[in-house]
Amino acid sequence: MSIKIFMNGQLVDREDAKVSVFDHGFLYGDGVFEGIRVYNGKIFREKQHIDRLWDSAKTLDITIPMTKEEVIEAIYATVRANNFTDAYIRLIVTRGEGTLGLDANLCHDPLVVVIAQALSLYSADFYEKGIKIVTASTIRNPSDSINPRVKSLNYLNNIMAKIEAYYAGCEEALMLNHKGDVAECTGDNIFIVKNGKLRTPPINACILEGVTRNVVLEICQELGLEASETAFTRHDVYTADECFLTGSAAELIPVVGVDGRAIGDGKPGPITRRILSAFGDFVKKDGQR
Ligand code: PMP
Repeated sequence: MSIKIFMNGQLVDREDAKVSVFDHGFLYGDGVFEGIRVYNGKIFREKQHIDRLWDSAKTLDITIPMTKEEVIEAIYATVRANNFTDAYIRLIVTRGEGTLGLDANLCHDPLVVVIAQALSLYSADFYEKGIKIVTASTIRNPSDSINPRVKSLNYLNNIMAKIEAYYAGCEEALMLNHKGDVAECTGDNIFIVKNGKLRTPPINACILEGVTRNVVLEICQELGLEASETAFTRHDVYTADECFLTGSAAELIPVVGVDGRAIGDGKPGPITRRILSAFGDFVKKDGQR
């Protein structure tokens, strides 16, 4: 059976979910998106994702042609149509069809698409043993360019960095910002642990303000763990006791090696494991609310 995709107000078969070659999302990466989890039939952190989509669109001056409630309903309709209880959702809004020129005023109908998929990004083994990452030479775009807080369809810096990771035999790439501080990975935020305290780069370190990152900060508070949003460098990562990444797709994945250096004893550490397990509980609890 073909999967159903939501496209501008309708659920259509995958084969019929086609985008015009004049769509500026296709021509220029002109659009915004969200990666969202549905656990136990419920959208995880619904408000945070929808608000972030609206904020991204606001900065790019794209008017989403649906209300927030309608978009939420479209997500649930797509999940139901594909018989999912747990799913990964890709929600996309492009500026819509225009001409070959850059003129955004000629694009009148932004396109809204919802794709639902079953997803496990990394194998169970990686969650047990951790992944290795490498610093990419491609930096995260500075906030006076397209602000990384905008989750735009233009992910080329991150894709270049991910290609660097692939050639280095690593699962992910660590991206620095223009100051040389640690920003994030290509599709995940980063946390380090040193002497029992957690650190993650602040929002102004040229990062996407990850929904999962913010959930982990909440979990730290619940667990009574000290966690701060402060800038740090690769030196802090190399000398950390533990490191892990967070994202809607990966959820929480331990990092055991960075640029060939082992982090801690080269195994996922106790605090990472504690938060990983608390995250599982948090998600279960959220699904029952
Ligand atoms: N940083 C980047 C660049 C990302 O693409 C993502 C994934 N959307 C994240 C961080 C993690 O964000 P979230 O927890 O909201 O999925």
